[in-house]
Amino acid sequence: SSSVHVIGAGLAGSEAAHQIAATGTPVVLHEMRPVRSTEAHKTDGFAELVCSNSFRSDDWENNAVGLLHEELRRAGSLIMAAADEHKLPAGGALAVDRDAFSAEVTARISANPLITIVRGELDGLPPEDWSNVIIATGPLTSPALSAALATLTGEDSLAFFDAIAPVIHRDSIDTEIAWFQSRYDKAGPAGTGADYLNCPMSKDEYEAFIDALLAGEKTSFKEWEASTPYFDGCLPVEVMAERGRETLRFGPMKPVGLDDPRTGRWPYAVVQLRQDNALGTLWNMVGFQTKLKHAEQVRIFRMIPGLENAEFARLGGLHRNTYLNSPKLLDRSLRLKAMPRLRFAGQITGVEGYIESAAIGLLAGRFAAADAMGVVSDAPPATTALGALLDHITGGHLVSDDSERGAARSFQPMNINYGLLPDLDANPTHGQDGKKLKGPERGREKKRAMSRRALADLAGWLGETAPVKQSA
Ligand code: FAD
Repeated sequence: SSSVHVIGAGLAGSEAAHQIAATGTPVVLHEMRPVRSTEAHKTDGFAELVCSNSFRSDDWENNAVGLLHEELRRAGSLIMAAADEHKLPAGGALAVDRDAFSAEVTARISANPLITIVRGELDGLPPEDWSNVIIATGPLTSPALSAALATLTGEDSLAFFDAIAPVIHRDSIDTEIAWFQSRYDKAGPAGTGADYLNCPMSKDEYEAFIDALLAGEKTSFKEWEASTPYFDGCLPVEVMAERGRETLRFGPMKPVGLDDPRTGRWPYAVVQLRQDNALGTLWNMVGFQTKLKHAEQVRIFRMIPGLENAEFARLGGLHRNTYLNSPKLLDRSLRLKAMPRLRFAGQITGVEGYIESAAIGLLAGRFAAADAMGVVSDAPPATTALGALLDHITGGHLVSDDSERGAARSFQPMNINYGLLPDLDANPTHGQDGKKLKGPERGREKKRAMSRRALADLAGWLGETAPVKQSA
């Protein structure tokens, strides 16, 4: 059929359906609720916000998510229109009345003559005669569809958990105790042979640490999460300890190939930290994804020699999140390379957050409509928040094969941030008023300059790809 089928009427699917209909192309929007629900949704409304009612900062000049809001508004976003209409007082943030917001999205979609709503679960791959499909089923994609997608993409390419290990401020790590070295001094593609910071443990320290992990208070995993099997690649550290007292010493805490400069020998066990940001100010604990309570993480991880005074930039966590290894699997217009009639949108593509999900819905909708009309649709420029997000998930910013493989392997869900946008040609030295800028001011002015560049470049893209409305 010539209709575009959109699966899932969440943040991304609702936006996609709206964008497609805006071009005059008919849409069939499939939503399984209330026939079947997810573990987090509570209503049968479209674009239900499952947790917080905030879309975060609305300051487009100084904040990347605020910039994304503004770009979406200018691109005619349904999600932003409904949010603006039902916003609540929240300082510089955009918070909404969740029920009124969802009701607004549902009403506008229901009233659109080009959108047909079907309530029911897609429990396998879409029928073969659906030639233009957007799958926007979110982090809690139903098990039957997840299973079909895992078979299609390969088990390793569909993640079911988002596992986060703690991140520590570099200057709070005691380098009198911890030392820089890669196992057997091995230098990787970008490595020097001293890429890790190693915290050594004696036998007594290791045994005490395992006891603490076993006894530590865990956050109760929601029932629906507990019944889902772990993937071996992201077992929480305390679950590994439960499997046997030596499991960690043969896993992430294995000491081989690491010579403690204070003894000249391999320690009994080791905790490794790896650089987490380009500046080298943040380091993550390798293999230490955990569902220990936050206070317990601080207490127990400070038992590690070298981390006695560690300051945590982020603590660990684990939650269910179905997402594709998009840089490997999707093309630049979000189509599955292995089956191009399927396009993906929303959190399942590896973006994180309500507004990021809606943004990818907007892009997928425009791309699908262009396909339906037989016209070419360009991606937004990489200098826009929309383009930067698309680049992040489709790997368009990567050049060499090697780095592409590396990026695909370590692909992690991401919020929009200025780090995803290309640098300015020249960083600002003077403010708009002509005054010379000091250090922190320069950083702020740089963000503002990037935001202004984004909106200017977006205007060009919108001019070129404005939806062509067919005359009635
Ligand atoms: P969703 O909004 O979840 O929409 C997917 C839709 O597809 C749902 O309506 C679902 O019922 C439907 N569906 C699923 N499978 C099928 C199927 N087989 N057939 C038909 N329909 C199907 N982000 C934030 O910014 N702030 C937060 O506070 C926040 N909290 C979160 C809390 C939880 C528990 C989770 C899981 C995620 C949270 N997120 C949060 C992350 C994310 O931004 C939201 O999940 C967001 O709703 C994702 O948008 P989406 O459109 O991709 O998916």
